[in-house]
Amino acid sequence: MANCGAIVQVAVPAPFHHLFDYRLPDAAPPPCVGGRVLVPFGKRRVVGLVTGLTTETLIEQRRLRAIETVLDAQPVLPEELLKLLLWASRYYQHPIGECLATALPSLLRHGRPTESALERVWQITPTGQSITANTLRRRAPRQARLLEILQQSAQPMGCTELVDADGDWRGALERLVVRGWVEASNRPVYTLRHSHTQSAAPALNTAQSQAVRDITAALSGFQTLLLEGVTGSGKTEVYLAATDAVLAAGRQVLLLVPEIGLTPQLVARFTNRLDVPLALLHSGLSAAERLKAWHAAGSGTTPVVIGTRSAVFAPLARPGLIVVDEEHDTSLKQQDGFRYSARDLAVVRAQRLSIPIVLGSATPSLETLYNVRRGRYRQLRLPQRAGGAVTPRFQVLDVRGKSLREGLSQSLTQRLKMHLDAGQQALLLLNRRGFAPTLLCHECGWIALCRRCDARLIYHHSGNRVRCHHCDYGHPVPAHCPHCAGPDLRPLGLGTQRVEAALRLAFPDVGLLRIDRDSTRGKGAFEARMAAAQRGEAQILLGTQMLAKGHHLPEVTLVAIIDADQGLFGSDFRAPERFAQLLIQVAGRAGRAARPGEVIIQTHHPEHPLLQILIHKGYKDFSEMALKEREQAHLPPFSAMALLRAEAHTADTPHAFLNQAKAAAQPAQGVTMLGPVPAPMERRAGRYRAQLLLQTTHRDVLQALLRTWVPRLTELKQARHVRWSVDVDPLEML
Ligand code: ADP
Ligand code: ZN
Ligand code: ZN
Repeated sequence: MANCGAIVQVAVPAPFHHLFDYRLPDAAPPPCVGGRVLVPFGKRRVVGLVTGLTTETLIEQRRLRAIETVLDAQPVLPEELLKLLLWASRYYQHPIGECLATALPSLLRHGRPTESALERVWQITPTGQSITANTLRRRAPRQARLLEILQQSAQPMGCTELVDADGDWRGALERLVVRGWVEASNRPVYTLRHSHTQSAAPALNTAQSQAVRDITAALSGFQTLLLEGVTGSGKTEVYLAATDAVLAAGRQVLLLVPEIGLTPQLVARFTNRLDVPLALLHSGLSAAERLKAWHAAGSGTTPVVIGTRSAVFAPLARPGLIVVDEEHDTSLKQQDGFRYSARDLAVVRAQRLSIPIVLGSATPSLETLYNVRRGRYRQLRLPQRAGGAVTPRFQVLDVRGKSLREGLSQSLTQRLKMHLDAGQQALLLLNRRGFAPTLLCHECGWIALCRRCDARLIYHHSGNRVRCHHCDYGHPVPAHCPHCAGPDLRPLGLGTQRVEAALRLAFPDVGLLRIDRDSTRGKGAFEARMAAAQRGEAQILLGTQMLAKGHHLPEVTLVAIIDADQGLFGSDFRAPERFAQLLIQVAGRAGRAARPGEVIIQTHHPEHPLLQILIHKGYKDFSEMALKEREQAHLPPFSAMALLRAEAHTADTPHAFLNQAKAAAQPAQGVTMLGPVPAPMERRAGRYRAQLLLQTTHRDVLQALLRTWVPRLTELKQARHVRWSVDVDPLEML
């Protein structure tokens, strides 16, 4: 270790698990921690982020390269966030530079000045206030108009608020500035202004008031609160009331939601209710919008920040409360690259900030319920549906031996007809898009398979094509069987398009909306379809799990799960939990006060214990039983897992790498290594995939093992031949 004067530790955007040391050029002012620097890296120049300043380095003096340019005088990343990211990088075993890339808006990553997020605003001066605009009207009508507008505004105004003054308003404003009547300044811009259609809050019921009291009583320190209540029990009202209290204390609220496209109603309620500007952070923003919203959050201009997963890294000037809505939702976990759980990181962040965090759900994850049981999280319950709506009635429809027409039993069709005749809406759920999951030759049994995956091609009616849902490979349906040249190719099995065709035939005069990924591809398409559904433009709503999310559909009185077996017997150990969450969520969309909903579940396994307990006793009893099963099987949350995945173009290579990796691990007491085994779908998009599972009852021991092991995997001989990744706390075993 040599003392070399000022050494700057830099995180560079490259796949390395460590930081890089740079020398500060003589006489250069030291950069700030959390600020950006331009550095030479290999043959390139990259924008790095300064994570620390020191005087010692292991790098030889002559090999130590110098920083080229210091880009920021002020940190772009507050220390709190920088530390959170460093922690997350270690916990999830992901290169720090790439973690930072997730957190930083792309414009900052590319070295753009932070000022681009500032907006010019104008405000009336005391002199300007005393001028009678009318005296200007003749000579300078535009100045008069602007003066009038600004005289009436207590706040500085930006160009978007002044646009109705057409023509050369900028020049007119400058002249007003020169006269000393108006003052110009810069302020951070936010992307969403508060709405002017304020709606009033309902009087909270007893349980809601209690929940709000419990949350606001916790505002002075860290606590994790689980707000559990069925859909429509009024959780959002609790978030809003708690937000009011936080804003009154002058602090900010960060609300994380799984998918903004699926939760426009929630966002609309926040904008309509709260008399403050909001920042929205989600993947649909342009780079400039994202930077603006990011700065607005970080400067405190927007007291409320709403965003998806990566908004957990939004800077906050005065953090007061974090809320994670639908905390059980899997889209809160990133499934590639930096595989972090936004929910878990939000809890870590709240703890570091000493602020409370509320996790809301109608169907909490078993992980969260286990934390409640262990006394780590505090549970708040909203037992009733707000507005007095009653819980829907569940009915299991045993379809064994029954004739099914395109998946629909006669009893289901009859019930459906009754609801439709009564002028009500029905929601049918089938978690498989396309027309049929298989295309089969009736002569010889040939099945259309994906060339690149171990998967069947899905038959799509539109365009008469088959397509792979894993890699998008596809082709038109051949006129003859490629194997025996027979003409009789048949779609086998059920997809939403097929049920749609059957329903249109059975109910030709009834409007139908199909809502799945195929029918909602365009921007805003999902929202348009859901809005049409809510306006009652169609009586039948048919779709995949997308339909179960976000929207209240009070006119729906019948919910039908067309194929429950699909959910109950998934290959993943979390399949029953996911199915239960889906069922309860979708059931929660149905019915309202005067008209209780009815939920029909078609299954070949009516006695399935988890299904029985779920519909007769509810989600709570289900989750207790499911937790017992997990405990017996030593599965999460009773153990912790990490997956090392590898893929390559040849079948043996991933195994060779994983075996080397396994051998390179220091055996650790309490950590079991299982595998390598082929992934459940071994070949995907032309690559063979295998995995090694690490399981432990001691998370710390696993973490210690990963910390020394993962950085060394790059050096393994076989590492060059595979793509590999580590997934800590994996949600999917695929
Ligand atoms: P959740 O977020 O749990 O699904 P919401 O907060 O959206 O529940 O409430 C469901 C519906 O009931 C909304 O239309 C909401 O305006 C209404 N609501 C919630 N709380 C009350 C209340 N205390 N009094 C009357 N209506 C309420
Ligand atoms: Zn054939
Ligand atoms: Zn494929």
